Amino acid sequence: MFAEGNPEVLVVGAGPVGLLAALDLAKQGISVEIVDSGVWACKHSYALALYPQTLHLLRELGVLDRVMGSAYAVRTLALYDRDGLHAKVRLGDPGDPLGCLAVVRQDVIEDMFEHALREAGAAVHWRHDISALQPAPNHVTATVDRLERESRGYVVAHNEWVVGRRWDIQVPFVIGADGYNSRVRRTLNIEYPEVAPAQYYGVFEFETDAKLGDEARVVFGDGTSDVLWPLPGGLCRWSFQLTDYHDTVAEEMKDRLLRSGFGYFPTERPKDRTEGSPNKYPAVLDEKHLTDLIAARAPWFQSSIGRIHWRTVVRFERRLAASFGQNRMWLAGDAAHLAGPVAIQSMNIGFFEAHELATAVAGILRGQGTLADLDACGDRWHSEWRRLHGLEAHLEPTPETDPWVAEHAADLPACLPGFGAESARLAAQLGLFSPPVLSKTAVP
Ligand SMILES: Cc1cc2nc3c(=O)[nH]c(=O)nc-3n(C[C@H](O)[C@H](O)[C@H](O)COP(=O)(O)OP(=O)(O)OC[C@H]3O[C@@H](n4cnc5c(N)ncnc54)[C@H](O)[C@@H]3O)c2cc1C
Repeated sequence: MFAEGNPEVLVVGAGPVGLLAALDLAKQGISVEIVDSGVWACKHSYALALYPQTLHLLRELGVLDRVMGSAYAVRTLALYDRDGLHAKVRLGDPGDPLGCLAVVRQDVIEDMFEHALREAGAAVHWRHDISALQPAPNHVTATVDRLERESRGYVVAHNEWVVGRRWDIQVPFVIGADGYNSRVRRTLNIEYPEVAPAQYYGVFEFETDAKLGDEARVVFGDGTSDVLWPLPGGLCRWSFQLTDYHDTVAEEMKDRLLRSGFGYFPTERPKDRTEGSPNKYPAVLDEKHLTDLIAARAPWFQSSIGRIHWRTVVRFERRLAASFGQNRMWLAGDAAHLAGPVAIQSMNIGFFEAHELATAVAGILRGQGTLADLDACGDRWHSEWRRLHGLEAHLEPTPETDPWVAEHAADLPACLPGFGAESARLAAQLGLFSPPVLSKTAVP
């Protein structure tokens, strides 16, 4: 049961985006409850970098020092192909101590947010599923199922968890940060179409003697965008796009399963959209395949490949919700968009959607705003994602743009770690012009 009575805001989903939304609301003095049907926070690095823009937001929320304590600073994004370096982008403003991409494991980010949230007087209700939502003009009724391992109640859809207790709450606002299969999105009947085919990536984190310094590298190949990240502790992460890899079952079933509310790689936690297990890997994750990929796409990487700490195949879909919500139920993060892995966009931009929603909702609850403020947020982020997905306002070369950069202009919006004016600033360093987006109000 929740602390006292009904909260002002219910956040569904305690992934990174939901945690930030709840923390932001709690810091603004709004009573908030946050639930997650998962058993605990994620345990892997997954999305592993925070934008300079995100670091400024975390400073506002008072959690910057904790995050920076375990971060590895990347100040340059270098653009390569198999022949070597072609261009460099300097991240953040020179002289700004936060002008870097902070490489931090996703589980560390989630841990820190959860800790800060507890200190702000709210706590995540793990093993609590929102099984139904009923919107009304002035509130939303949410059905909360507390999941237990004991055999009482009735059996829920997967494994041995049962509903131990069920109750309804009425809340003025719901923020759906409930990821890919979002129940909030499905309740609102919001379409979630693919905007481009899914991409498969082989992700390898291993010990190496590579001296990457403060540089991350995006490597363009023949229809591929790979990425090399320096990690703390003498490790690096290579994420290679697997063009020949295809899961026929997943591809055939995806839309049907998404509509019915199932992931296609059913696991304990929907976020674990992974294949393989710690001891059994598909052949594409063999060390031999890793060395073949490096030889074919990045032969300049002559450094050692030591113990592989983590390897996985991830299927990254590219989707954009038809809208970000309506009235009193709004979406943020993977619930509203899915993107490829190179620029860690879905999580970082999800933080800003959550922040804007939290600010608008707090304003409305204090009588200083109207529901139209939420419509404006949704419109802004929808337009920004259309741009990031390359659906409108592509980056345009000028006659002075380096021909190699011009050739890759269409791939760059998905690779630059920033949004709004910041992403235009990064593109300008490459001699690319960013036409204005077609929204009524652009993301600053
Ligand atoms: C193996 C792997 C590697 C990845 N690598 C990258 C990468 O390199 N780059 C990148 O950009 N991204 C990567 N990602 C994606 C990244 O992890 C997501 O973009 C990020 O987690 C999105 O955060 P979120 O908070 O929006 O959603 P999520 O993290 O998915 O959190 C949603 C939460 O909602 C909960 N939930 C769902 N339904 C309900 C309900 N009805 N009631 C209660 N709770 C509910 C779920 O349990 C979940 O915890 C990776 C993901 C995986 C799995």
